Amino acid sequence: MKHKIVVVDDEPMTVKALKRLFESQPFDFFIFNSPQQALEQIDEISPQVILSDQRIPEMEGVRFLEKVGKKWPETVRMILTGFCIPENVHGAFSRGEILKVVAKPWDDNQLLQQIHTAFHYFDSVQFAKTYQCDICGEKGRPDLIQMHYFSYMCRRCKNLYELLPGVVFKSLRRFVTGNVL
Ligand SMILES: [Zn+2]
Repeated sequence: MKHKIVVVDDEPMTVKALKRLFESQPFDFFIFNSPQQALEQIDEISPQVILSDQRIPEMEGVRFLEKVGKKWPETVRMILTGFCIPENVHGAFSRGEILKVVAKPWDDNQLLQQIHTAFHYFDSVQFAKTYQCDICGEKGRPDLIQMHYFSYMCRRCKNLYELLPGVVFKSLRRFVTGNVL
């Protein structure tokens, strides 16, 4: 599935800059001037990532992303804001409703990297839903790492694996999972 991002921003200069930046990228982008229009199109587009400016018409960016999060909780939400980050943006970020706060003016490479990280995060979460850690058996961890073809470890267990001598790790694994392998 191709990666898609929905952007809400009505400042012509910002929109122009983002278009120029995104044109050479491997993902599809959809830019809306109005949050309402974006909300109407999200089902059809089914983007993995949503980026909104904080200052947009009709409602604040953080409010728009809150609505998106309620209806499409799996989307990764990012906000563009001025140098001074408003209190409610801080709040939404610490509650985990927004994954990234990008300050304007942004650095092109950094913004692209953050968007790619957001896509990657989305993919990891989807992936983790179907696979589980072979060591602790936990499902839904976004930090699963592929060890062999059909073997996965979560970051926590991998850290332990690297830390402990193999024989201790094996007996710990047997103790936790009852798995002799
Ligand atoms: Zn684990």
